[in-house]
Amino acid sequence: MYDPLVNNYPGPAQPHVRSYWQATTSVDLPATQKYLPEHADIVVIGAGYTGLNAALELAQRFQQQVVVIDANQIGWGCSTRNAGFAMPGTGRLGYGDWEKRLGVDGTRAIKAEYDHAFERLERHLQACPQRLQAQRGGYLKIAHRPQAIDALKASYAILKRYEPGTRWLDADAIQKRVHSPQAHAAIHYPQSFGINPVLLAASLARQAQQAGVTLVEDAPVQRWDKVAQQHRLHTAKGRICAPKVVIASNGYTPNHLHPGIHGRSLPVLSSVIVTRPLTADEKAATGLHSTELVMDTRTLKYYYRLLPDGRLLFGGRGAIRGKDAQHPRYAKHLLAALQGTFPALRQLSSEPVEYYWSGWISVALDNYPRIYSPDDGIYTAMGYCGAGVTFTQLAGQRLAELAMGEQLPALPFYQGPLPRFPLPHLRRVGQWAFYQLARWRTF
Ligand SMILES: Cc1cc2nc3c(=O)[nH]c(=O)nc-3n(C[C@H](O)[C@H](O)[C@H](O)COP(=O)(O)OP(=O)(O)OC[C@H]3O[C@@H](n4cnc5c(N)ncnc54)[C@H](O)[C@@H]3O)c2cc1C
Repeated sequence: MYDPLVNNYPGPAQPHVRSYWQATTSVDLPATQKYLPEHADIVVIGAGYTGLNAALELAQRFQQQVVVIDANQIGWGCSTRNAGFAMPGTGRLGYGDWEKRLGVDGTRAIKAEYDHAFERLERHLQACPQRLQAQRGGYLKIAHRPQAIDALKASYAILKRYEPGTRWLDADAIQKRVHSPQAHAAIHYPQSFGINPVLLAASLARQAQQAGVTLVEDAPVQRWDKVAQQHRLHTAKGRICAPKVVIASNGYTPNHLHPGIHGRSLPVLSSVIVTRPLTADEKAATGLHSTELVMDTRTLKYYYRLLPDGRLLFGGRGAIRGKDAQHPRYAKHLLAALQGTFPALRQLSSEPVEYYWSGWISVALDNYPRIYSPDDGIYTAMGYCGAGVTFTQLAGQRLAELAMGEQLPALPFYQGPLPRFPLPHLRRVGQWAFYQLARWRTF
């Protein structure tokens, strides 16, 4: 599997990963251009949620001539591989962390920003004939062991100030919804919902194309130089020049794409399994009769949801290196974690896992993303730490505004570059040590 810290660039022409979403969704993707134009007002690198939202905004609101290039097909990265949890927020900081840094008013401004992201997502949902196959029901954040209850309750006391619709569920209440020895209390967030990520990528691509954006696939940027005030990108489909470039390659960004962003993100593999459809008895045994999304309180979290056809999607951390991503032990590890969560599913017949796939998320050193300009005429957004389905919808808009010289809200996401990792070449060693530590802290 492509590895951003090892390979020079992804693609070209790598097929989509074999995911449940790709196998079960029929999508209406817009036509793409065979040939790369020589010039554009703005080139966007990466046709995921971030890049497509930026391109849509640049073409629609600012009348820019935009070319989006992707190394492979549209949405080849995380934007078609994710679990489809549309949740408030991004990164790993909660309202308690933001309150300590920004006070109550600043945290309310953060919450307003998250609401804008949801509004944009709802707009894209309306633009999709299948309404993204949205499964409404909210999201449950579950204390996976008794020792996690106090910290969860303390975070709920703060959360209520910003999201009064959230509810605390004690052990009895959560056991009625999730029959698991790893469910001791929970917070219910009603605003969240599950989506089909492939439909979202397609909806965005169609909207962008209708707004006049040129989409070019199988054109990885292989080299980048500057001629006068123009950025010149050398791709597998030829060269393109533009005064402005948006880097929207996020967790897939090759290590040496541009010196302005080098060493500021850690690409981390996140993996998912999808079971065969559960029988009525198996579903009853899990208690999961609703369409709620679930995530636990582990340092390295597990998350799960029932899919529209009754399968169980279960996700968590993956391998460290791309070359290990497909090793069966990672799917086995997720199945063991699923069966630890739902012992009633230990009897799942042989071959219970029908799909297993992984993708690269971008982790920021200080746990929250940045939208900023690393160099003249270059704009980027990355570091969502695996929470990007909702926030990328807005991040793309903010990127476009930044590229057009507009003032962004005075929020930490927009006030500086991603911090550089100390000793970036040792990022993977640090990640391995963190995983070892998390194993001991969680159990
Ligand atoms: C298994 C998994 C589960 C997840 N689940 C959730 C979830 O439930 N909820 C949530 O909020 N978030 C989730 N995420 C994270 C979420 O999917 C991402 O934050 C989001 O999709 C990022 O979108 P993006 O457009 O920024 O990047 P991506 O969608 O990753 O797009 C980057 C694109 O850049 C292209 N590219 C890279 N290098 C080059 C180059 N040199 N030239 C040209 N193109 C290039 C790639 O081909 C790729 O298509 C999950 C991620 C994974 C992997």
